[in-house]
Amino acid sequence: MSGQKLYFCDELNNVLSCFHDRIMSCCSGQIGPVYYENYRGEKIDWEAFRKIKTDAFDMLTSENIEKSPCKDCFFLRKRTSEDTIKECFTTLNISHWTHCNCGCIYCARMLHSKGKIETKVKKSEYYDMLPLLKQLYKQELLDRENLMAAVQGGDISVLKEFEPIVKECLKSGVKSFYILSNNIKYQPVIKKLLDLNKTTFTTSLDCASRGVFYKLKRVDKFNDSVNNLKKYAKSKYPENIVVKYILIEHINDNIEEVTKFVNLMSDIGIQKIEFMIDNKYAMFTDLDKTPLPEHYGRLYLTFKNLCRQKDIQLQLWSKTQHIIDTYALKN
Ligand code: SF4
Ligand code: SF4
Repeated sequence: MSGQKLYFCDELNNVLSCFHDRIMSCCSGQIGPVYYENYRGEKIDWEAFRKIKTDAFDMLTSENIEKSPCKDCFFLRKRTSEDTIKECFTTLNISHWTHCNCGCIYCARMLHSKGKIETKVKKSEYYDMLPLLKQLYKQELLDRENLMAAVQGGDISVLKEFEPIVKECLKSGVKSFYILSNNIKYQPVIKKLLDLNKTTFTTSLDCASRGVFYKLKRVDKFNDSVNNLKKYAKSKYPENIVVKYILIEHINDNIEEVTKFVNLMSDIGIQKIEFMIDNKYAMFTDLDKTPLPEHYGRLYLTFKNLCRQKDIQLQLWSKTQHIIDTYALKN
């Protein structure tokens, strides 16, 4: 091994992602070591499971990197003497179902759900998470003191297992949760976690009016979402609530909607807003060839000024920050 360059990935070391079609290391969804393909609740060979992680790290050398599923990933960095490979994970992404009670026009889930809107609470159509979660704890593969359990996928409002999963984590050891929900249905357990300062709760409202909400999400649930947000904002730690505004061209990309949105968030008592750009531009457009709509930069600056006036913290999803800096504000 002497003279070889060694690489390291913190995601590989720390993250386990349970998707509907596979259990894998990181949440890139495309590349990276896979622990179990097409998992459907089978008995897992835990020795083989563990070996996948150690084998993946063995590939992170200049000699082997070409054959590694991590090749060319921007998370790779030089390995230092401080880096140790741990057996257990500190982040568990729970994202094993796809049904949802709305149908956002920008949703990646559509591929799997064919746009179906579910109103009933249901089990995942792929596998149950609870038995797997119990096994992961039993195998000491989850760091009971430092674990962050992120629940996201379809919408938790219609996932039957949501509350049992939260209870199991609380019983077996978890440091915090990250919960992403469209907020159409109020969940007392989320309010409880907010009161305990145990979770970040993120929801994507994207607008401040019923008509725009319907255009974006194809359900008439704007009032429910706002009323639920008001209840969560009364928790002991409202600073742990983040409301997103995903900018969608020709629908909510105007100063009037943005202004109404920031005012609404201020009235409700929301302290953090996340600004994101439509995935069409963030993921699928070569911005060196096809320019970002000219007004996106102005909208971002409006957001920034309004949030400053209202004393709301504005955060940008990392790729949005890069796009704004590189393409929207370059002049
Ligand atoms: S290097 Fe990239 S692909 Fe590999 S585990 Fe890390 S984040 Fe995932
Ligand atoms: S709330 Fe989330 S999962 Fe549901 S349709 Fe919208 S983006 Fe998709």
